Order: sequence, then C-alpha cells, then structure tokens
Amino acid sequence: MAKRTKGKCKYCGKEYTFSYMNKHLPVCEERQKRWEEAGGKTCGYFELAICPKYNRDYWLFLEIKETATLKDVDQFLRDIWLECCGHLSEFDIDGIRYDVAPGDDFFWGKPTKTMDCKLKSVLEKGMTFDYRYDFGSTTELMITVVNYRIGKLRKEKVVILSRNNPIEFMCEECGRKSAVYICTECYYEGSGWLCGDCAKTHECGEEMLLPVCNSPRMGVCGYCGSDIYPDQFVPDK
Ligand SMILES: [Zn+2]
Ligand SMILES: [Zn+2]
Ligand SMILES: [Zn+2]
Ligand SMILES: [Zn+2]
Repeated sequence: MAKRTKGKCKYCGKEYTFSYMNKHLPVCEERQKRWEEAGGKTCGYFELAICPKYNRDYWLFLEIKETATLKDVDQFLRDIWLECCGHLSEFDIDGIRYDVAPGDDFFWGKPTKTMDCKLKSVLEKGMTFDYRYDFGSTTELMITVVNYRIGKLRKEKVVILSRNNPIEFMCEECGRKSAVYICTECYYEGSGWLCGDCAKTHECGEEMLLPVCNSPRMGVCGYCGSDIYPDQFVPDK
C-alpha cells in the first residue's frame, strides 16, 4: 500500500498517520482540556501504540489503567481485532512469556508467567514488546508504551485514542466497486478482493469468502470482524 493509512484523534477529530498521531496525542489541545478537569481520585495510565509487527496499515492508540492486567489487554485485542475461534495467545516482554495458562513452557524455551498481572508491575514508558494470537496462523503485534501519565480516575479500563480508518479495497473482478469479501483461496496468491455482486459468481465458492473488516486478521482462519467495536472509529468531540 503506497499511501499510509490515517485515523482520527478521539478528542479533536483531526486525521493523521500512525507516526504523526503519535506526535499529536501528547500535545492535542482538546485532550489537554480534559486533563484539566479538576478534582477527585487519580490513576496512572499507560498509552500504548499497537500495530502488526510487519505492517503499519492497521494501528491503535490506547490509554489503559495501570491497574489493568495483561489479560485485559489480551481480551481487548481479541475483541477489536483478533478473536476467531479462541486460539491461544501470549505476550513476550523482556524475554519472558506471559500466557493464559503458564507452566507448559516447552514452546519457545522461555520462562513463562501468567497474564494475570498488573500492567504497572511489567510496563515502563519507552518499552516495546510482542504479542501473538494463534500459534498456527499467527497474528503478531508490536506494542510500544509511548507514554505514562497520572490523571483523573475514570470507569473504563481501556479508552481508544485513535484507530486507523478502514482501508478501501477495490473489487478485482469488476474493478468498479469496493470489495466487501475476500476469497481465502485466492488471497494466498495475493488477490481475491470481491464486491457483493462478483462474489455471487466467484469460481471458488461462497464457503471460501470472509468479510472485509478493519483488522490485521482479515482473511485469516475464520476471522469475520468484531461485533463489539465497529470498523469505523467515531471521535467523541
Ligand atoms: Zn487531537
Ligand atoms: Zn481461528
Ligand atoms: Zn466486482
Ligand atoms: Zn477465489
């Protein structure tokens, strides 16, 4: 993809690419106005930048309570980007693996701990670590702790600060309409984008089709998109 994908800032609605958004978020004036709201209890928050390890077309910026656990991050990533059929997953932080059921540590020969640990005990501003969902058709993500701040306590564990806009793919059969399906049979040869009309007559058959969705797991295993988070991120200005 020649053009970098853009996404909107939750607070001011302006659109930037991944790397510009990273620079914008700490200085967004609308966001800072929210920070000035006075009073009450406080909490520490980590700001995470997340993208696939080898691809910058899909990305997320999150703010998450320091008292949340790696399990919470895992659940969030499954909900928005990954969950197809309950595969295993793990974090790899500083040479230590964190997974759901530690103990079976024969996979990569690294020490294993439980994901049930608080972020403040494992994360630090500036660190980058890996996350893997599904050890067969793996979706591999890279997570960077881009910031840490103390702010007013809020209910939500995770807040989405920004997310890449859905990417538009053109149907490869008619070349006129946007693709809504991907044929998993053709995908492995680097094609397979289909509009609704062309999908009806596509030679590989309906059972090979998966919906186009705003996720790095699109077209993998049986991934059908998220029913919790819509593909299009709407800023709450
Ligand atoms: Zn902004
Ligand atoms: Zn699956
Ligand atoms: Zn078409
Ligand atoms: Zn096909």
